[in-house]
Amino acid sequence: MPLECSVLGKDLAITETTVPVISPYWRLKRNGHWALLCRYEQEQLRYSMLSPKMGATLALMDGRLTFRHLSMIAQYAFDLESLETSQEFVRQVIMAANGEDDAVVNMTPELEPFVKRIDPFEFAVKTSKWKAQERPAVPLSLNLMFSNDCHTNCSYCFAKGHCVPESKLLSTERWKELLREAKTLGIDQVFLSGGDPLFRKDALKLIEELIDLEMLFVLSTKCFITEEIADRLVSIGMTQPVNQYVREIQLNMDPNESTADNLAGSPGYYHRAVHSIRNLLKRGFNVRVKAVVTALTVPHIYEWVDELEDMGVRQISVAAYNRSLNGRNESLFLGKEDRASIIDQCRRARIDFPEIDLRTIGCEPMHDGAAVQKKAVTETVPALPGEDSEIHDKIRRWREWDHSFGTQSSITITPDGKVMLYDTVPQDEALFVGDVSTSSIVEVWNSDPLLNYPFPKTEQFKGVACYDCSNLAQCQSKAGFCFRDAYFRSGSVLVPPAQCPMVQGESAF
Ligand code: SF4
Ligand code: SF4
Repeated sequence: MPLECSVLGKDLAITETTVPVISPYWRLKRNGHWALLCRYEQEQLRYSMLSPKMGATLALMDGRLTFRHLSMIAQYAFDLESLETSQEFVRQVIMAANGEDDAVVNMTPELEPFVKRIDPFEFAVKTSKWKAQERPAVPLSLNLMFSNDCHTNCSYCFAKGHCVPESKLLSTERWKELLREAKTLGIDQVFLSGGDPLFRKDALKLIEELIDLEMLFVLSTKCFITEEIADRLVSIGMTQPVNQYVREIQLNMDPNESTADNLAGSPGYYHRAVHSIRNLLKRGFNVRVKAVVTALTVPHIYEWVDELEDMGVRQISVAAYNRSLNGRNESLFLGKEDRASIIDQCRRARIDFPEIDLRTIGCEPMHDGAAVQKKAVTETVPALPGEDSEIHDKIRRWREWDHSFGTQSSITITPDGKVMLYDTVPQDEALFVGDVSTSSIVEVWNSDPLLNYPFPKTEQFKGVACYDCSNLAQCQSKAGFCFRDAYFRSGSVLVPPAQCPMVQGESAF
């Protein structure tokens, strides 16, 4: 059950006796000289950059001080002229933290076990050092590919072509070292991709290590979860909560038995998936069943949800098969009518099965020729009273940037230890930026190949439009164009990506 939290300034007014606390769903983290406010959840990475003053003030909010006490400390620490000025400052810190996020809540006895005690002095940072830092000092999360292999052979797979021979796989011990290093870097959330994370013989040992390190993750699998595997998963703690979360097992399965078996390239696959679900539900796992819907499975979504509902499944995701993942099977791509049908079937299913949390991912009809990806418009966050304008400007720019831009937050580690910035691209030498079989995570994070990757030198573009383009510097530093898209378009990262205004035939910028 999610914890009840009253968000200050939204659900509850701030008074002198209010006791603010960082929500159990958020973490205040030091990253180099920066303070970051990170959403604590298993499925996606969300974070905000904070000014040094805001970081230090939030660090005091551990559920022990009233708003009045906090204001008195802030008045002294920041040399503010009066208690009223300081109260206004603290109020604005809370409102800024709760603008787009719900990070500061009202303290209650129920929250006590989940409060993280923070040393506020850890967040006292010199402004000059804060300003000098240009990017996260360490990654905020990792994409881990324990294996690129699995027991099926899905028609829509983008991983299977990159299977690493067993002799080249990172050893169990090396994986464990990397996980422990990640923990010491402050990483508490990882994403397991691949391939199938359970395919490796020692997969459960690696999962157990993640659980022992209190990492959040979703275990997404198409493997057959026998009674024995389900029991092992229980014994290593998959059904135990970490903080307030029971980690999710996402069982991947396509609708309609004969179509699903064909798509998975594995007779009896659907039947095994049904048994896997039963074995998990029987033991109280937090189960979600997910389908990657292709043109072949579109007609069967409603009946599939109905069948799962009968089995007791209460969390279902329907994801559209995405062209960008792999271009090899045109017959699977979704047309406009397919997408409309998915949306309609899911709408009906939500009405008929209100107890099911039914999510759709990327199913909305696409606009014609819409290759340009618009960034989400972020609200302008007002500067805190007395905030250095340079700091405010940097935070504003950071918020406007597309955070999926790889170098800003995360890296992908492939089964043999090669490092990439994305997990949904072919594992190609051109896209590797390091190797953790011989280097530490932090060494790769700060290495030249990784730093140069999103900002290639002009000479590297010789022969393509970017080489002579007056926008190159602006393109790389401001637009944050994603070279992954360039790779999908042409097989090379050193070409204009699809969003390029030149490619689109628009006037540049
Ligand atoms: S289960 Fe995943 S890795 Fe295996 S073939 Fe299917 S899509 Fe590929
Ligand atoms: S991606 Fe387009 S706009 Fe950017 S440098 Fe290349 S040609 Fe110019």
